[in-house]
Order: sequence, then structure tokens, then C-alpha cells
Amino acid sequence: MIPINDLSRGFKIYQEEYEKKALEVLRSGWYILGNEVKSLEEEYSEALGGSCYCATVDNGLDAIALGLKASGIKPGDEIIVQANGYIATVLGILQVGGVPVFVEPDEYYQLDFHNIEPAITKKTKAVLVTHLYGLATRMDSIIEICKKNGLMLFEDCAQSHFAPYKGVYTGLFGDASFFSFYPTKNFGGFGDGGCVISKNSEITEKVKILRNYGSDKRYHNIVIGCNARLDELQAGLLRIKLKHIKELLKNRDYIASRYLKEISNPLVNLPVVPENCVHTWYQFVVRVKEQEKFRSFLKNRGVATDIAWKVPPYLQPALVEKYGYKKGAFPITEEICDTIVSLPMMDYMDEDEISKVIKEVNEYE
Ligand SMILES: *Cc1c(COP(=O)(O)O)cnc(C)c1O
Repeated sequence: MIPINDLSRGFKIYQEEYEKKALEVLRSGWYILGNEVKSLEEEYSEALGGSCYCATVDNGLDAIALGLKASGIKPGDEIIVQANGYIATVLGILQVGGVPVFVEPDEYYQLDFHNIEPAITKKTKAVLVTHLYGLATRMDSIIEICKKNGLMLFEDCAQSHFAPYKGVYTGLFGDASFFSFYPTKNFGGFGDGGCVISKNSEITEKVKILRNYGSDKRYHNIVIGCNARLDELQAGLLRIKLKHIKELLKNRDYIASRYLKEISNPLVNLPVVPENCVHTWYQFVVRVKEQEKFRSFLKNRGVATDIAWKVPPYLQPALVEKYGYKKGAFPITEEICDTIVSLPMMDYMDEDEISKVIKEVNEYE
């Protein structure tokens, strides 16, 4: 069976370096908020282009919640998000008492700027775009709309590390952006992790205070904080991965380019990359009319697939209970959920595996 993903492959490519770093941190006797975290924060903002600041945290969800809080989002503030986004984005908004206002996505699965202005009310404070599947949202119109309406702009970059729009990496367009280092993400670690990126150091400094019991210095708590620290071991391992992230993204790009070139089944719609964007292939998402039939066909032929995701956030039981959304509320989103299928995509696949996926997809009828 060709798996949808296999996290051990990325590890094995640089195994020696990871193991060396793990031992180094273990033997150092310093495990929380030390040089590894500090260096990762410097190196990650540098890798994104340099003109930004980084505050690491314990996971992507906390990056969203603490980043929004540090940016001044208050209970009752409405934040516009795409209806086909991920549940964690919505949970981050809810954690600070914000209200998610859903709008439909465009044909590339990203937030459709046409839908922002009609969704603005007196309570709207921000737009939060999620760059889904490894592809940047087209930002120009969104930036303009936010400026015109006095809204803050946030980016959920949990799936879009080093995905550029017009040559600028996602995470550098808004007031603050939120990254996850969850193991499956393109820049993922070996456990939980995340960070907030901002061009405004006040925001990242606030996150650093919030993540450490609200303390600006030892035993001095200036705000009600929490414990959301990234640990040294994780930061050290992420620093190794950061050195090699471009090579890993090239591997993904190679797999995707073969899929795009060689899959030619009229029943299978391939992903389209819009102008000004370079896809980083967190997921390789195709569209088919009969999702379950396609998936079981491939499963029987030894190719695993996934749906990211079948039920959108607003139709999850927890949100239905809170807001009462019903099926049919966002038809474009629901059509997406009913027709998307993710093909195997990971840090490394050999030629035979890629060929097998292509062959089986082409034989689907
Ligand atoms: C993974 C993910 C998150 C959450 O990150 P965690 O580190 O798992 O908390 C948030 N938003 C999106 C779009 C994601 O894909």
C-alpha cells in the first residue's frame, strides 16, 4: 500500500543530523526557553525574508489564539474566515471570544475576496485567510479591502510554509501570521509546535509574555498568561529541518510535477496553480464526481487517499450547537468537501511509487 504520508521518510533523509542534535540538547541540561528556541526564532524569521519577528509557541492553535490576543482581538470581535478552512483556525478565534464569520472560497480553495465586503458589519475587526493545501491566497485585493475598511489582516500559514505570492512568502502580508510545526506540515517537527510571525515586534513580544505565564521577567506576571512554550528539543530538531526545507519542498514539487504531467483521466480534475503563486504541495488535491468510488478503487489498487476534510468547521457538531448552521449554508464549500481527494504526498517517494499512483489514477473509470 502506498501511504498517503509517511513521516519516517523525511526523518531518515537527515537522520544523523537529527540524532546528533537530539543528543546535544538532552546532554545540555537546558530544556525550556534556551538557545535552541532563540536561534529557531531568529533563523525562521530570517528564512522568511528577514523583515519580521518570530515568537515560537507549543502548537498552531495556540499560535492563532495568542497571536489574535496579542494583536488586540477582543470578545465579540467578528473575524472573516473561509468556510472551507480548518477547525483549528475557528477554535483559535473562539478561544479569544471572537466570532468567526464564514465566507465562500474561490476556485483555488482560498478565501474569495469578493465575499469579504458583503460580510462586513460594525463588529468586524479582521480578515483571517488560511492559505490552504500549500498554496498562497491571492493577497492584493484582500490587502486593499482590509485597508479601505480599517480591518486587521491575519494569515493562517499552518499549511503554507515558504509558499510565495508574487515572490513574498505567506506570513508577511498581514498584521500577524500563525504557523504550525505539527509533524505532517511541510515544515513540521517531531511533536507539537508553532509560531507567530509579525513585522511588528510588539505583537511577537506580547506573545512571548503570554506563552510564559504572562511574565515579562521571572516571577513577574503583567498579564494573565498561559503555558504555551515550545521546548528546546523540538526547537533544535526544527532548526535541522529548516536547513533542509528547500530540498524537501523540491521533492514535493517533483512528485507533484509528475502527477500534473502524467495523470490524464477525464474523470479526475487536477489542481490548478494561479498566476503569481508557487504551490508547495502540502496536499495534492484532485476533484472527482464520485469521491467514495474513487477512493475505494484506489484503495483496492494499493493507493491510500484522504479527504481534507469531509465536514467543514461550521457543520461540525460543536459549531452546529453554538451557531445552528445547517447543511446548504455554503454550497461552494460543501461541493468542495464532497468532491476533493488528496493523493499520496510526502517528503520522499521513489519513481516506482509515483508511477504506480499515476497508473492507478489513470485506470479509474
Ligand atoms: C494544522 C493546522 C492548524 C493547527 O495546528 P496545530 O499545530 O495542529 O495546533 C491550524 N490551521 C491549519 C490550516 C492547519 O492546517
